[in-house]
Amino acid sequence: MKKIAVMTSGGDAPGMNAAIRAVVRYAVRNDIQVLGIQRGYAGLLDEDFIEMDFSSVGGIMEKGGTILRSSRCPEFVRKETRQEAAKILAKHGVEGLIVIGGEGSLHGAMFLEEEQKVPVVGIPGTIDNDIAMTDMSIGVDTCLNTVVDAIQKLKDTASSHERAFIVEVMGRSSGYIATVAGLVTGAEAIVIPEIPVNYEALGNKILKERERGKINCIVVVAEGAASAYTVARHLEHRIGYETRITILGHIQRGGSPTAFDRLLASRMGVAAVEFLKRGNSYVMTALQGGKIVPVKLDEVLKQKKSLNMELVELTALLS
Ligand code: ADP
Repeated sequence: MKKIAVMTSGGDAPGMNAAIRAVVRYAVRNDIQVLGIQRGYAGLLDEDFIEMDFSSVGGIMEKGGTILRSSRCPEFVRKETRQEAAKILAKHGVEGLIVIGGEGSLHGAMFLEEEQKVPVVGIPGTIDNDIAMTDMSIGVDTCLNTVVDAIQKLKDTASSHERAFIVEVMGRSSGYIATVAGLVTGAEAIVIPEIPVNYEALGNKILKERERGKINCIVVVAEGAASAYTVARHLEHRIGYETRITILGHIQRGGSPTAFDRLLASRMGVAAVEFLKRGNSYVMTALQGGKIVPVKLDEVLKQKKSLNMELVELTALLS
C-alpha cells in the first residue's frame, strides 16, 4: 500500500485532530503517503486535497474541531455521486480511505466499499455515543466533561438562589450524555429519549427533595427527549418555584480533548492504518473491553446502540 486518504465528516467532535495525527504519523512511519481530504465528502468531490506529512500534524492534538474541516454532503446518498468519488480517489492513486465521523459518515464509507470497492476503515467520532459495537466514540468524554463543568457551575448559583435549573444537553436519540452527566453531578432527575417522562412523578420527586432540605435542583434533559422549555412549563406549576433554563448547545462540541479522547483517537488512528495495510477493510475501529478491534461496518450500522440501563438505575438510586 503506497497511498491512503483521510477525512473527517459530519458533526465534528473533539479528538478528531488526534486521530488525524495518528493516521498520518503511523502511515508515514510505514512509508505510506497520506492525502488529507478537506471538508468531508463534499471536499472529496471537489478534489479539495492536501498532501500531509509528519510535521503537518504537529501541535494539533490538543486542538478541538478538525484541521481537515468537515461538512455535510447530502448528494453523497446517491450511488452516482459515490461512483464519481471512487473515480477521483483512483485518479489520485488512493488505495484506501479512512473516514472519521458519526453514523452518517460511516454509512457513506460503507457504501463506498460495498459498491465501488474502495477499501475503507471508519473511526467513530461523535459526541453522541450513539455508535454501536464500540464502548466509546471519540469526543464523548470531552463533551461529558464540558457538560459536567457547566452543571457544576449552575449548581453554585442554584444553591444561592434556591432555584431549579433545567439543563438541556446533546443527545438526539441517546440519553447517554444526560444520564452520565446527571449521575456524576448528583442531578435530581434526568429526562431522556429512552424513557417516557412522567411530569407528575418528576414534580413530586423535586418537592420531596426540597422537604428533605435540598436547596438546589438540577434536571438534565437530553435534547431528543423534550425541550428544556417544555420541561420547565410542566414543572413550574407543580413545584411552585422558579425555574431557569440553560441550553448548552454547541459549546458541547468544542474544547481541547481530554486525555481519554486523545488516547482513544491515537489508538484508533494507528489501528485504522494497520487494518488497511493488512487488507482488513470494510471495518470500523472499535473499543471493546479495553482493546481496539475491527468490527464489520454493516454490522455496526444495522444496530442501534442502547443505553446501559444500569446507569439510569444508578442515577435514580443515588440522587
Ligand atoms: P454524522 O457523520 O456526524 O452522523 P451526518 O449524518 O450529517 O453526520 O452525515 C455526514 C455525511 O455523511 C452526510 O452529509 C453525507 O455526505 C454522508 N451520509 C450520511 N448518510 C449517508 C447514507 N445513508 N449514505 C451515504 N452517505 C451518507
